[in-house]
Amino acid sequence: MINFSLSPEQLKIQEAARAFALQEVLPVAWRYDEKDELPLFIMKKAFDMGIMNITIPRKYGGPGYGLMECALIVEEISAACAGLATSIFDNSLGVEPLLLTKNEEARAKYLPVIAKDFKLISFATSEPTTGSDVAGIRCRADRDGDDYILNGTKYWMTNGGFADYYSIFATVDPTAGYKGICAFLVEKGWEGISTGLHIPKLGQRCSNTVGIHFRNTRVPKENVLAEPGQGFYMAMTAFARTRPIIGSFGVGAARTAMELAIDYAKRRRAFGFPLKEFQAVAFKIAEMYQKVETARLLTWKAAWEADSGQDPTITASITKFYATEAAFEVVDEALQIFGGYGYTRMYPIEKLFRDMRLLRIYEGTSEVQRVVVSRFAFDSYKPIMPALEDFPQFGHLDVHETPGETAWRCRMCGYVHRGQEPPDECPYCFFPKTAFKKVWPRE
Ligand SMILES: Cc1cc2nc3c(=O)[nH]c(=O)nc-3n(C[C@H](O)[C@H](O)[C@H](O)COP(=O)(O)OP(=O)(O)OC[C@H]3O[C@@H](n4cnc5c(N)ncnc54)[C@H](O)[C@@H]3O)c2cc1C
Repeated sequence: MINFSLSPEQLKIQEAARAFALQEVLPVAWRYDEKDELPLFIMKKAFDMGIMNITIPRKYGGPGYGLMECALIVEEISAACAGLATSIFDNSLGVEPLLLTKNEEARAKYLPVIAKDFKLISFATSEPTTGSDVAGIRCRADRDGDDYILNGTKYWMTNGGFADYYSIFATVDPTAGYKGICAFLVEKGWEGISTGLHIPKLGQRCSNTVGIHFRNTRVPKENVLAEPGQGFYMAMTAFARTRPIIGSFGVGAARTAMELAIDYAKRRRAFGFPLKEFQAVAFKIAEMYQKVETARLLTWKAAWEADSGQDPTITASITKFYATEAAFEVVDEALQIFGGYGYTRMYPIEKLFRDMRLLRIYEGTSEVQRVVVSRFAFDSYKPIMPALEDFPQFGHLDVHETPGETAWRCRMCGYVHRGQEPPDECPYCFFPKTAFKKVWPRE
């Protein structure tokens, strides 16, 4: 039986994350957004509370939770500040290559440290010249004996300015496409690493975003997480596990925008009535509620697929573009309900609006998710109904009732002709006899 209720443990996690969001994140979020600065002490508190790195297995000192628990935590934190939610959840993206690697030695070395001490780990596929096209990575990884030497720049690295470790994707040959991509665990202090200035952003200004440059940085063979050819699949598998959670970022922030809009629509009066009395406003609230609920359901389904050992790739992509677009629509409508005040920096909606805009870009843009889903629909989806040519429309039904009759269907315009032979030419679209397919009796 399908069950949408949370377990007692999940309810506890949700309650703890909600308390953290309300007591620690919300009071500082707008100030740090203004300062365009990551409040690192909040990250440390999240770590101390046990709501960071939660996917690290127990064997390595983590709580070994699944994506469902991540979804619960991220929704609550994002409801208070999507930027801080990004910073906190980014460690789970950063550790994903360690969870996926076959390099047990690296896993055993780094995961327990990340679980035990407050260590940040950034994830980097993106570069200044390529983001969506992961196979187009140019950062070089040249073999030197068993080691690799890194040269190049990774860009847009969340938490990169504070990270102790980096999960770096590079290529042994930029002309080899996905076959050249490999992955490494790189430590901050290694020679030849420079950190760029914090990139000033429209929103999510409580999260730190930088570029990292490598000049002849040596990576020992022990730190290879994916050999050439395996790195691309590792990145895609990691995204399939993290994209559902981007849905939770949307759900959390959209929920807050909806709550603020409900509150405002009850209090603000126009033409002598509270805004909520106008159906145009009330219906906006209904649609906001609908979007928050549907986005959450989809997010939970994707998380459940991943946690139950299924491949979540397609549901993760659907979630990524549905939930993030729905969230942006909710925030946009909330701003509309607030009228002119919604557009000011004295009311909270404008930050939600700025923060939400990013969700359609990082972890694969909305367009990239549509590429993934449309490819699946065309190439791998198994239809349940008969193919178009064999689809039994009303014209064929008469034939069923007349045993012994033969019928032909024009494959161009759909006309059904009864008779032992097809006509020389279709009387509707004038296509020749060869356009006809026998539809009855079936062959
Ligand atoms: C604040 C922030 C934080 C980030 N954090 C990280 C991080 O921690 N680690 C990391 O690796 N990256 C990170 N990113 C990078 C992010 O994942 C990329 O920005 C994103 O994947 C898009 O890549 P791009 O910016 O190079 O755009 P491009 O790939 O240049 O795309 C530009 C536009 O073209 C469209 N487009 C591209 N290809 C296609 C196609 N085949 N079909 C249709 N449309 C297409 C895109 O959808 C987009 O609209 C972050 C980005 C931001 C802004």
